[in-house]
Formats: sequence, C-alpha cells, structure tokens
Amino acid sequence: MNKEEIMEKIIERIKSCNACRLAETRTNVVPGEGNINSPIMFVGEGPGEEEDKTGRPFVGRAGKLFDKILESVKLNRKDVYIANVVKCRPPKNRVPLPDEVEACSPYLMAQIETINPRVIVPLGATAMKYFLGNDVKSITAARGKLFDWKGDIKIFPMFHPSYLLRNASKAPGSPKYLTWEDVKKLKKMYDDFMTENKSR
Ligand code: URA
Ligand code: URA
Repeated sequence: MNKEEIMEKIIERIKSCNACRLAETRTNVVPGEGNINSPIMFVGEGPGEEEDKTGRPFVGRAGKLFDKILESVKLNRKDVYIANVVKCRPPKNRVPLPDEVEACSPYLMAQIETINPRVIVPLGATAMKYFLGNDVKSITAARGKLFDWKGDIKIFPMFHPSYLLRNASKAPGSPKYLTWEDVKKLKKMYDDFMTENKSR
C-alpha cells in the first residue's frame, strides 16, 4: 500500500469508530485533511460545531483565523496536514477527557507515522500536552520553541486560534503578535525542508 492508501484506511477506521463516548454525540467524525507529504503537521484539540457538521477540521471561526495565519506567510491548507487530538466533537466544546484522548490516540499516531512530518505544531494547551506531557509549564512558555519528540520529529507549539479570537490585540508581546512571529519561523523551516528535499 502507498501512503495515500494507508491514510484512506486510517480514515475509514476513524469513520466507524465507537471507542469512546464521543461517538454517541457526534454528527460527523473529523479525521483530518491536507497534504500527506508535507513536512508540517498541525494538531488541534478537537472538532467544534462547524467541524462536526462538515466533517472538516478548522472550518469555523477559529479555522478562518487559522487560514489567515497561514496566508500571512503565503502558506495554505494544501501545503500542510491538519488533524486533531480527538476526531469527534466533545459536547459543548469541552476539553476532551483523558480516556477520550487515549481512545483516539492510535489514530493520530497512525496519521503521524504515515505522514512522517519533520515538525508537528500543536495548537493550544491540549495538543501541546498530548505531545510534551507535563514537561512544559504552559503554552505561553513553550510556544515558538522547538522540542525533540520521537525519532527526528520536532514539536513547535503555537497558540490556539480560539485563544487569539479572545485576545484581539496585536500590540508587541500580545498572543497575536507572538503568533505572527511563530508562523514566520515556521515558514522558514518549511522553506528549508522543501529546498533540502529537492536537492536530495
Ligand atoms: N478547534 C480545534 O481544536 N480543532 C478544530 O478542528 C476546530 C477548532
Ligand atoms: N490556553 C490554551 O488552551 N491555548 C492557548 O493557545 C492559550 C491558552
């Protein structure tokens, strides 16, 4: 099987998953989408209302801001892969519970293994904790820094776009200002990976 076929199989399994209580209240699963050959993979927390309705990640208000963040460095959704820690919407958008994260984890791990990205960008505290556990104090302390993870995959946490919606200031030092700094760094990494691969 090639990469595309493996990812299709993973998505099929996600679609019929009943491994946790979130399956009972979901409308659609939100497996993830994007470029499975990208060096960059974003991981959010879990689907919200719009995502549950459409089956696609980051399509609601936070998703529109996420698109703008990518566009600010001339990236778009087709350049990266976008997934979530949990694939079904937690009721009222609550934070997913530890047993829900655990039940869903094999899917995310399988996606990561298939894509084999160079950098994973957890968006917000829930996704950051999934990758880095309690080694890091807070998203505010960890964002914009590179952490070693499994193999040669690095973790580069960024603020969650929903957090940016609640903190609209763009003043120097604000979450939005810092996110624009972070995404510029990320674009530099992306460009470097792309030129490296071409010259190999
Ligand atoms: N928030 C997330 O964490 N993920 C989505 O897909 C949408 C909103
Ligand atoms: N808390 C979160 O959960 N995410 C952020 O991005 C910032 C604070």
